[in-house]
Amino acid sequence: AAKDGGRGRHHFYAPDLHTDAQERRQLEQDLRDALAAGGLELFYQPVVHTASEKIAGFEALLRWNHPTRGWLSPAKFVPIAEDAGIIAQIGEWALRTACLDLARWPDSVRVAVNVSPLQFANPALPAIVTSALASAGVAAERLELEITESVFLNDDEGTDAMFAALKRLGVRLALDDFGTGYSSLGYLKKAPFDKIKIDQSFVRGACEKGSCNGAIIAAIVRLAEALGMETTAEGVETLDELDLVRSLGCSHVQGYIYDKPLDAGQAHARLADGVGVIARGPRSSRSNRR
Ligand code: C2E
Ligand code: MG
Ligand code: MG
Ligand code: MG
Repeated sequence: AAKDGGRGRHHFYAPDLHTDAQERRQLEQDLRDALAAGGLELFYQPVVHTASEKIAGFEALLRWNHPTRGWLSPAKFVPIAEDAGIIAQIGEWALRTACLDLARWPDSVRVAVNVSPLQFANPALPAIVTSALASAGVAAERLELEITESVFLNDDEGTDAMFAALKRLGVRLALDDFGTGYSSLGYLKKAPFDKIKIDQSFVRGACEKGSCNGAIIAAIVRLAEALGMETTAEGVETLDELDLVRSLGCSHVQGYIYDKPLDAGQAHARLADGVGVIARGPRSSRSNRR
């Protein structure tokens, strides 16, 4: 046991950088293989309209079932894909797949797809989006592209032109993870967003005594409303958090309180099953809501 402990400590305190680089190269190769062999999947997390508790749409979230490591989170492999120069292909696959799944769902339902800053910097993006919509036969306004503030880091005419081109297509634009990056209120004025996604770090702990997160959420909601934008509170896990973001006026809610990301079949069933109504009170059973 002492020996095991020693090994563990060695690994923890003195990470072998060579091995890390090797592991990364291996993962990169595995990811190329997965992309080629159809080993990536999109999961869908319901985005619920706060007032009606109906499913307004889904956010498409990448998943990779690695042959030996099991399910990997995009937080682990998206950065690798970006470094390896294959995020464009993965992103195009995600756009096309999400549009095909969307085509099977009612017209009132939307899908949101995350777009890497590297995709956003590619002048071919509007043509790719157009093609994905046309192949699936879905209306542009049913597709929402989630973009993070980091696209403004190399802010130039290219950024403005890309926003204008995407807007001309009729797709919706959402500003993801708002407030966590290099936020500038100027971005909101500059870019034609339809929605602000309030990062889960503001929702988490917002109900605790002394937290100022509620005040921040309230301010974002008021700002968004003044600019004619919707707001989604991300990462809502508890009834208290749901009650809070509802009372603060967030138009949409996304989080484990309703559903974890579902596979396409489960998402389809979730729509049929009606809505995200959560039973409240002592008689409520949320066990069937995962
Ligand atoms: P994001 O776009 O901010 O996605 C929201 C993340 O919050 C998702 O993590 C989701 O599973 C998680 N989440 C949702 N509700 C809850 C909750 O109630 N509690 C907690 N603790 N977490 C919740 P996920 O799926 O691991 O994705 C992580 C990030 O990876 C995403 O953050 C997004 O930035 C990126 N990503 C995912 N799919 C894609 C993709 O297709 N393309 C690109 N470029 N990035 C992607
Ligand atoms: Mg997102
Ligand atoms: Mg987010
Ligand atoms: Mg995030």
